[in-house]
Amino acid sequence: MFIADTHSDTLFSLGVMRRPLQDCCITPQRLQAGGVTLQTFALWSGPKGPEGDYEAIAEAEFAAVKQLTDAGLRMVTSPADAREGENAFMLSLEGCEVFHKGLEAVADWRERGVRMGALVWNNVNRIGTPAKVNAADHLTDYGIAVVHEMQRLGMAVDVSHLNEGGFYDLFRRGHVPPMASHSCCRHLCDHFRNLTDEQIRLMIRDGGYIGVNFYPVFLSGDGRSDSLTIARHIDHICQLGGAEIVGFGSDFDGIECFPEDVQHPGQMGNLLQALHSYGYTDKALEKICGGNLLDYFARLG
Ligand SMILES: [Zn+2]
Repeated sequence: MFIADTHSDTLFSLGVMRRPLQDCCITPQRLQAGGVTLQTFALWSGPKGPEGDYEAIAEAEFAAVKQLTDAGLRMVTSPADAREGENAFMLSLEGCEVFHKGLEAVADWRERGVRMGALVWNNVNRIGTPAKVNAADHLTDYGIAVVHEMQRLGMAVDVSHLNEGGFYDLFRRGHVPPMASHSCCRHLCDHFRNLTDEQIRLMIRDGGYIGVNFYPVFLSGDGRSDSLTIARHIDHICQLGGAEIVGFGSDFDGIECFPEDVQHPGQMGNLLQALHSYGYTDKALEKICGGNLLDYFARLG
């Protein structure tokens, strides 16, 4: 089975925290044990917003990519290049502060292998406003220009962390449907980081993509969760009509607590089992595990 995960913060652990790869939540051995074909590793923009040293942080994380390839993981620039049975990875940005300096930076980072970018993390930047700050503000004019450049270059625009104002701007003014690399359902857990049913319906209507986050705080009000809780969020998106646009966005190495039986990628089998228990067939699982992401990137052109 082709299994894809659209978000993790392992490069922050490696490049900024200087944690050895063997001490990270995601290790090559666990990716192999869990049968994860395609892991996305994010270059996080840094904690201090537009004034922070995001360039240095992104560079430190990018330098850590070598540790992944040295450990036998293969970098690809499209999900379609990953082969079932191997452990490949893709790069993303979490917070697009590195695009502040000019639109040419979008092509530069694409050249370096980045194929998806979350416009904001938890702080306001030159592009837009996160859900953590407020729901209403719109993307800036510069933000719209960044989005158009990303879309022109076939880079997925990621709405995880973005506020509702910015989210709807993408549907009004963007040319290609966005993805949410690591987001859950507000209907099941009322947290600002989660997507409302209205947002999920738009993603379904326009052919976006949603990787469901494994963070217990986003999965359930009391923070208690296991593989069945993740399956419940996936099932909710499917109930809304999203069986063709949903998948996994673990957030491993970015979260400090875990679903009881899905604490690292080596335990992905427990999640597949939970989805089976929800009545999903092998064929439906193939789509959720990775087929939907492959289709989404095919739609990006
Ligand atoms: Zn995040």
